[in-house]
Formats: sequence, structure tokens, C-alpha cells
Amino acid sequence: MRLSYSALDSFQNCSLKYKFQNIDKIKEPKSKEAVFGTLVHGTMKFIHNPSLLPPKLEDALDYFSKNWNSDVFEDELEERSAFSMGVAMIQQYYKNNIVSEYNIVDLESRFAIEIIDPKNGANHTISGIIDRIDKTEDGYEIIDYKTTKKMPSQDKVDNDLQLSVYLNAFLARYPKEAANLDKITVSLYYLKHGVKLSSQRSLEQLKNANQLFLDVIAEIEKGIFVPNVTPLCDWCGFQKICPMWKHKFKEERKIDSEEINAAIGDYINLKSAIASTKTQFAELQEKITKYMEQEGVERVFSDEGIIAQTLRKTYKYDEKQLREILEPLDKWESVLKVDGIALKNIMSVLPVSTRQDVERARVLDKESKSLTIKKK
Ligand code: SF4
Repeated sequence: MRLSYSALDSFQNCSLKYKFQNIDKIKEPKSKEAVFGTLVHGTMKFIHNPSLLPPKLEDALDYFSKNWNSDVFEDELEERSAFSMGVAMIQQYYKNNIVSEYNIVDLESRFAIEIIDPKNGANHTISGIIDRIDKTEDGYEIIDYKTTKKMPSQDKVDNDLQLSVYLNAFLARYPKEAANLDKITVSLYYLKHGVKLSSQRSLEQLKNANQLFLDVIAEIEKGIFVPNVTPLCDWCGFQKICPMWKHKFKEERKIDSEEINAAIGDYINLKSAIASTKTQFAELQEKITKYMEQEGVERVFSDEGIIAQTLRKTYKYDEKQLREILEPLDKWESVLKVDGIALKNIMSVLPVSTRQDVERARVLDKESKSLTIKKK
């Protein structure tokens, strides 16, 4: 299978989006964020293109405004705010960097590396584009520009798959550098914040990155593609055909009757009424229990009926004793159950490779459908 890094990222964020893009080959209308990101990346390439006289700030701003595309914005206000954000990013970049000082090895460097699955010998190709590779004083730096608002934690950068894949691609081109991993830096440059988050990789992490790719390929080959609603949906061009969003667009509805619209509204209102009744019920319960305590009674009477207080007890077993009883009968294992919540709690302290092994051990137990409400 041939898979680009962005396709893998897409599959991990929402496998349905991956299907729309890569299997159904539906062309996604470019969002304003994507258009903006492409232009900022283009400007960074313009800034660092090797030349005798590197472009000054005015030249970079000139490039940015000449290539600006107004068509993707809904109104003037939105366009003005995006334009000034781009200008601020470039200004900040010049403030924090002396562009002539970098020794650029490659810009928007395309790669395609092969991975062989040791289980079945299948040959796969990963492709992608590395924004920038620099020669540093004693090694190299691989940089990926980001135009998003949200910055990850250092821990996420240290385990970022994209950077590992890029480093693997770099090593495929310069295999001798595998002996100098401590001199190769991988960085995510968050242009909105003017902050570069850097990290390094071990050989083990690079091997794990390949395994993760193989795991994702195995998942894709299962052919199950489910929508995953996240804030990234705001940037997704497939909302009109996605089962999680298409009902929002009236023109996409097959049945649009007043009866069903009223049922949806009534359901939402009834659910809030139930929630408020539950709160009211708990308050009444507390008041009556307190009164019973003060009166020293177990039952109270009114014209509507009688309320009685009952004591409910729950028991738990002493694990040590139970084990001593059941183990000789070979029944101890059958009463043990993996506690999913406890497992989730210890995941963050496990080494990355163990976390991946745990993820691989996950199997679907049962599934059911329920209705959840997100109020406007
Ligand atoms: S709108 Fe969201 S859930 Fe639907 S395909 Fe796009 S990313 Fe996935």
C-alpha cells in the first residue's frame, strides 16, 4: 500500500474522512484554513530559498499579499483578520530569526520510503513532504511549520509520529547519519506563537514509528471507516456527506417533516426536564431524610401516601482470603476482570512501546446505540 503521512494522519483523526479522500477519491473543497496554511508555507519557502540576497521582511510581506486569495473567505471582517494574522506571523518570524544565518539543505523536500511488513513480507510506501532541512553546526535539523493555534506539550512533541517519520525519511536519504542521532534535531515551528518545539529520536522510537505505520495499514485493510467528531470537523470539507453533520444542511435531508423536527425538539426539552426533576428529587430526598432523623422515625405520612426509609447494604470481598479459597480450585483466574478505568489511569506512565502493545490488545467487546444531546 502507498500511504502519505497526511493520509495516515487523516485516518487516525477520522477514518471516514480518510475513506472519502483516499478510497472514494472525493475532492474536498479547500477550506480557508487550508488555503491560508498553504500560503504561509509558500512564504516560508520564499524566505529561505537559497539566494545571494535573502528576501527582507518587506519582500516576504509583498510575496504574501500578492499571493493572497480572497475567494475563500465569507466576509471582509474574516478576511481582514486572517490577513493580519499572516502578516503578524511573518513579522514575528523575522523578529526571532536572522534568515541569512541558516544553512538550508532542502525545502519542501519530497520523500517516499519503503517499509516491509516482517509478518507477511508485504511492501508498503510512505510518502510526504518535509518543510525544511537545515545543516546545523554539528548535525541537522528537520523542521515542520504549523499554522494552528493549539500547541502540543513537550511530551507530545517527543513522541510525535510525524517527526519520527520525517527523520526516517531523512535517514533513508543519508543512511550514515543514523550513527549521529544525537546530533539531529526534529522541530515543530508554531508560527502563530513564534515558538519552535524541538526534540530528538532514539533508534527504538524510529522503529516504533514504522510499526505504527504497519498497524495503521492493517486497520485500513480491515475496511471499517467510522466518523469521529472532533473540533477538526470545523475544517472538514465533507460535512455535507458525513452522517454526523449532513442533517445540519436542510437541502441534504431526505425527509424533512414538521413531525420529526418537533420530535427532535421535544426530546431535547424532555431530557432537560428530566435532569431538572432529578435535581429537585435529590433535594426533596435530602430534606425528608433530615426531617426523619430529627423526628427519630423510619416512616412519614401525608395525604398522598407513606415514605419509608430502608437501609441498603453493599458488600465487597477480601481479595486475599478469596484468592486463598479459589486458587486451589483453579477458579481464581475466572473471577478476575481487567479494570478498563484503572488501565486508562496507568497508561500515561507506561513506556510508548508498551502503550502501543496495550492498544493492539484492545478488542471490541459489545456495542449499542444511545442518543446523546449537545445543546445549542
Ligand atoms: S465532518 Fe468530522 S466526522 Fe465527518 S468526515 Fe469530516 S472529520 Fe470525519
